[in-house]
Order: sequence, then C-alpha cells, then structure tokens
Amino acid sequence: MNYYHENCVNSCNKGGKNIKKLIVSDNPSLLPSSAEFIKTKVIDNEQIAEGVFLISLERHFDFDPGQVTGIHFKPAPDARLYSIASGINDEHIKILFDIQPGGFISPFLAERKKGDNLFVTTPFGWFTCYEKPAWWIATGTGIAPFASMFFSGLGKDKILIHGGRTAGSFFFQEEFAAVLQENYIRCCPGENREGIYSGRLTAWLEEQENLPADQAFYLCGRAEMVVEVRDILIRKGIPFKNIYSEIYF
Ligand SMILES: Cc1cc2nc3c(=O)[nH]c(=O)nc-3n(C[C@H](O)[C@H](O)[C@H](O)COP(=O)(O)OP(=O)(O)OC[C@H]3O[C@@H](n4cnc5c(N)ncnc54)[C@H](O)[C@@H]3O)c2cc1C
Repeated sequence: MNYYHENCVNSCNKGGKNIKKLIVSDNPSLLPSSAEFIKTKVIDNEQIAEGVFLISLERHFDFDPGQVTGIHFKPAPDARLYSIASGINDEHIKILFDIQPGGFISPFLAERKKGDNLFVTTPFGWFTCYEKPAWWIATGTGIAPFASMFFSGLGKDKILIHGGRTAGSFFFQEEFAAVLQENYIRCCPGENREGIYSGRLTAWLEEQENLPADQAFYLCGRAEMVVEVRDILIRKGIPFKNIYSEIYF
C-alpha cells in the first residue's frame, strides 16, 4: 500500500509561501521525525451521531488551529492522524472521528472510556488559516480543523460550507449557525429542511457565480471530494495557489 504524506502533499502556506509537494512512499509512518509521543488520558468519549465520536483528551501541548496529532495505543510509527477539533484556549484536546469498519485505530478509539490511556503525538501540519476572509469547505468529519479554527476565534469573514450524508451529521452546527449565520451553508442530498441545501456541496458550488478569486479556499475531507471541489473552483476562476487542502485517508 502506498501512503500519501498529505501534510507534505498539502499547500504549505506558512510565511506567505505556497509550496506544493507530493511524497509517496511505502513507509507506513505519516509522522514527521520531530513528532514525539505523549501519554494522555481520555476525559470523555461521546457518540454524537451514528458511528461518529467526539473524544476529549487531557491536553499536554499548544497547537495552531488546523494542526493534527497522531494517535495510537502505544508509541508506534503507524499512529493514525487526526485533526484537532478544539480551540487553542480550550482545556482539553478534542478529536472528531468516525469509525472505519475493519479499521485498526478508529474502532479501538470508539471503545475508549474516561480514564483510559492513549498516546498522542505533538501536533504538526500546515493546514492553518489566518484572520483574512476565506472559504472553508468540508464533508463529514473534515469539519474538524475548521471547528478548531472557529473555536480559536478565526470565524470572522469566513464562509463555511459543510456537506453531510444526513441532517444529523452537521457537527457543531448550533455554534456555527449562531455566529456565521447566512455564511454557514449545510448541504445534504435528499434533505428538504429549512436552512439545508438539498444536494451535494459540489452542486451548491456549481450554482455559485463570481466566487472571489482573491480569497483562500480551504478544503478538508476525503480525496474524492477534495479533488472534485478543487476542479470546480479552478473552473470557476480560483487560482490554484489560493486552494489549500487536507485529505483524510
Ligand atoms: C491529515 C489527516 C487528518 C485526519 N483527520 C481525521 C479526523 O479528524 N477525523 C477522522 O475521523 N479521520 C481523520 N483522518 C483519517 C484517520 O487518520 C484514519 O485514517 C481513519 O480514522 C481510519 O483509521 P483506522 O486505523 O481505523 O483504519 P485503517 O486501519 O487505516 O483502515 C481504513 C480502512 O481501510 C480498510 N483496510 C485496511 N487495510 C486494508 C487492506 N489491506 N485491504 C483493504 N482494505 C483495508 C479498513 O477496513 C478500513 O475500512 C485523517 C487523516 C489524515 C491523513
């Protein structure tokens, strides 16, 4: 199996530079050599939708909103990466995850209870955002880095588009709706409720005219969605350099 080192794949927007790299290797470790493991305890683990959990962990480090941490039951290089979903001033680290049936770590994580031990790495990643106007586009648990940005006070002048499979999959929707108001767009095929666009987020995007070419577009979720959205944005005149993506795999 090839492992795409997405934090290297991603646009690196640190220091105003926009570097695109793709590293593919057969090394199963997605961790940078600088990552160190820290033993931590589960504070809480709540199932918030079918197969989706929000786990809270003791916090042992500072991070930038949008960064990830590696999680495992032991300090091992095959730790899985998870975006931090909590704000930089929150007491605990929160991770939003869904169970991948037959997966190695996510079913194990779903079983964790208050007081259980886990190993997390020091945070890393460049999927970070500034206080400038920008678009945040996510499907499913790909909302996690935007939740961290939002709970860290970066919600001003942001448009958030979230695609979900059901009306129950708009995680943190009360918090987003209260602040972002009409700049928070939920898309769900087959849903006809008020406030929810009935269709995929790609269909919503296709309908938009005059997307702002000078703003940054941040995409997070599974590869198919990220690639499809990237194509739509480029077709609609958004320069490639203004599109930043984090792919969950
Ligand atoms: C930068 C980044 C950030 C991420 N952030 C999040 C996040 O915030 N929340 C989140 O939920 N996820 C996130 N992910 C995804 C996460 O890291 C895991 O990949 C995911 O939870 C699955 O891990 P797992 O160990 O349970 O499954 P894995 O063991 O990795 O397996 C994944 C799937 O592949 C199947 N599979 C495994 N081996 C084989 C095989 N040999 N042949 C066929 N099928 C196979 C499994 O059955 C399973 O369905 C992120 C990924 C990246 C790269």
